Amino acid sequence: MLTRSRNETGSHNDEASLVAHQAASERGIVASLALDIAGNPDGFAIFTDFDGTLVDIVGRPEDVVVPRGLRTDIRRVRTLLGGAFAIVTGRTLTEVGRFLGKGLDASGLHGIEFTFAPPAGQSPRAGDAPRELVEGIVRIVAADPGLRLENKGAIIAVHYRQAPAAHGRLRSGLLDLIAALRLDHQIKEGRAVIEVMPRGQSKGTALLEFMQRTPFAGRRPIMIGDDRADEDAFAVAREAGGFGLRVAGEHFNRGDEPFAHAREVRAWLATLAGRMS
Ligand SMILES: [Mg+2]
Repeated sequence: MLTRSRNETGSHNDEASLVAHQAASERGIVASLALDIAGNPDGFAIFTDFDGTLVDIVGRPEDVVVPRGLRTDIRRVRTLLGGAFAIVTGRTLTEVGRFLGKGLDASGLHGIEFTFAPPAGQSPRAGDAPRELVEGIVRIVAADPGLRLENKGAIIAVHYRQAPAAHGRLRSGLLDLIAALRLDHQIKEGRAVIEVMPRGQSKGTALLEFMQRTPFAGRRPIMIGDDRADEDAFAVAREAGGFGLRVAGEHFNRGDEPFAHAREVRAWLATLAGRMS
């Protein structure tokens, strides 16, 4: 972690070299982790976000492109890890299946959906968002051309990539609406998107759910993600003795992110995939 301020380092140049050094060491984690995983694949579990982490961010989420080879590399890494690989995303599981194919373990909708049947009584249930909430969000979105509503069932997302100036209005409008309706909902900010979702679940609770199950239990979790919604999962992974690896983008941009781009995550997975034989 970079903790020294400019005053402590004495000069701007010192600070710049410290930043460069930190960046090199943070980024070095990724290369050494690949070796550790290859040497002890039963000791690790990998969790990864989808948008901005496995695939590049695009103007409209439905237009993302899954690069050639990614599906194969993921399956090879999954085999290497004895199955301990899962996608943890805000997308629905239906979309995960559409983009990455069937048969992968995944949690969708920020910890609401799982590809396995969660233990009775312990688990989040996916119900559609309350009607008055949806209607209120429709009104907010209608007031600002360029905002796009995406109804994912339990979660309503509003994308503002085409209307960045509307962000503040959108945020306060959604918070006011939740308060006025007295709902136990919260907002989560992603990259050019605000999502309205029930409280209680997150990518962190998703990781906890996986970590109780075979083959994930007892392994060091590695979570890879590119936005603030991934931070709950980073914290859970670190708490369990593992790693939270940030991918640079609008949310993470200190210059010392372990991955500078989704492309680097894909290259890292390809490296791991190549080590399995
Ligand atoms: Mg993301």
